[in-house]
Amino acid sequence: MLAASRQFLKPRSGSRFFQSHYGAWIDGKEFNPPNAATYDVEDPARRTKLCTVLDADAAVVDKAVKSSRAAFESGSWSRMDVRDRAEILNEGARALRKRVPEFAEVESIQTGRAIREMNAQLGRLPEWLEYFAAMIRTHEGTCPPFKGNYVNYVKRVPLGVAGLITPWNHPMLIAIKKIAPALAAGNSIIVKPSEFAPITVLEFAKLMTEVGLPNGVFNCVAGQGGCGAALSGHSDLDMVDLTGGTPTGRKVHAAAGENLCTVLSELGGKAPMVVFNDADIDQAINGTVFGSFIATGQTCIAGTRLLVQEDIYDEFVARYVEKVKKIGIGDPQNPNTQMGPVINQGQLDKVREFCSLGVQEGGKLLCGGKQPDGLGAEISNGYYWEPTVIGDCTPDMRVVREEVFGPVIVAYSFKDEADAIAKANDSDFGLAASVWSKDIKRAHRVADRLDVGIVWLNDHHRNDPSSPWGGMKDSGVGRENGIEALHEYTQTRSVVVGFDDTPFDWFIEGDARYG
Ligand code: NDP
Repeated sequence: MLAASRQFLKPRSGSRFFQSHYGAWIDGKEFNPPNAATYDVEDPARRTKLCTVLDADAAVVDKAVKSSRAAFESGSWSRMDVRDRAEILNEGARALRKRVPEFAEVESIQTGRAIREMNAQLGRLPEWLEYFAAMIRTHEGTCPPFKGNYVNYVKRVPLGVAGLITPWNHPMLIAIKKIAPALAAGNSIIVKPSEFAPITVLEFAKLMTEVGLPNGVFNCVAGQGGCGAALSGHSDLDMVDLTGGTPTGRKVHAAAGENLCTVLSELGGKAPMVVFNDADIDQAINGTVFGSFIATGQTCIAGTRLLVQEDIYDEFVARYVEKVKKIGIGDPQNPNTQMGPVINQGQLDKVREFCSLGVQEGGKLLCGGKQPDGLGAEISNGYYWEPTVIGDCTPDMRVVREEVFGPVIVAYSFKDEADAIAKANDSDFGLAASVWSKDIKRAHRVADRLDVGIVWLNDHHRNDPSSPWGGMKDSGVGRENGIEALHEYTQTRSVVVGFDDTPFDWFIEGDARYG
């Protein structure tokens, strides 16, 4: 087993991970068409091949969609009693919880994210299945006050077949955020995980089949360069849900528009972290460094714009940079490692270019800006980049306005509350923000003026299955988590019942002709 050759990994008895090849998961089994193209999945820390994966083309995607449609129409899941549906989701949660260490290990290997992050993140994922299982057991319809002798009851029913396109930065978290409400609502799904990190999601599809999800309800196709477009443009989808870059989001919305299907999108971000002079400075430093560099900065809600009130700017940024310099870079599977590499050569190039650009545009490189030295031989070729802070930035710089999606933070100052709000909102994105202040009135006042979908006060990056998650402006459309997610994945059916016994005949006059 591959894991056995790694210094910090212990092979887990009974682990079924790391097949040398993965096909698509369709109709409750692995599917590998003859002579099909495959691609390699790479360990970004070592740049070694982990396995091959079927490069699902339009024909494979079509097979998956047909399978999901047949499963939906059969009613095996869509019309299953919600108690039974909830029980299968809970069974999935139990099975996943038992296997969190395995999933976290693979998640760390395929993404390069530190194992301590993945253990913490994956440990919570069963909660999403449990939360939506509980929701469908307790969710009630409505009975609007229809005029006259009528009872109008409104039920929520599934949309049908949904295509879920998920990224590489949090492969399992983002997939489960979509899968749990989609399945709870009774839909059938085709998940297209990122080509860079598909293993855990393919394994999760298998796990859900093992716990009793009917075949075809959860299909999974991995592929690169065309698979996502084949799925989002498929004419037999009822919904597409994407987490990815904003340019991809625009294409997905356009394709879905052609097919008149519902779209949910969670796209790019450039989250401001607004630090006022009355903040608890020690906690603000710890919190903003966490908000910036968790996941090697590769997360849509990463705090990438550090906005500090001008009278504490120099001192705060100096202390922030001191803390950033101490972030422990290393082998992601070493439990002491705090930051791993970025995902691939493309992201490394992007990060490098933005660092150069930031300096050319007049920013001051305060730390990082290069690949780290002194990494062990095994990982010396990995896609590593030092955590980077560029100070004295201005709002017009490209490095301030565009999403880097890596460990690159820009810092600049603001004068007062109005200036803080104006600068924080001066962005095409509107996903998330954090506000750091001990003045409770100010914190809420500023939160109320930020054009973003998520605001943390004196914290950053916190997520819960119950808490709505999504963006304004170019950061996407719709919300994950909470009752909003169940609503996104359902539609209403309004049933109007007349109970008036008075005979009714609108055409009682018969066949008379008038005029
Ligand atoms: P992309 O957004 O370019 O691609 C993500 C997924 O979308 C891939 O699986 C891809 O599949 C699919 N896709 C591409 N084109 C289409 C299409 N026309 N219709 C449907 N699906 C499509 O992300 P990358 O991984 O290339 O990263 C590029 C940038 O995107 C990052 O630098 C970052 O800025 C942003 N990003 C944002 C994320 C977030 O959480 N908001 C997550 C990941 C990336 P296929 O390969 O088959 O085309």
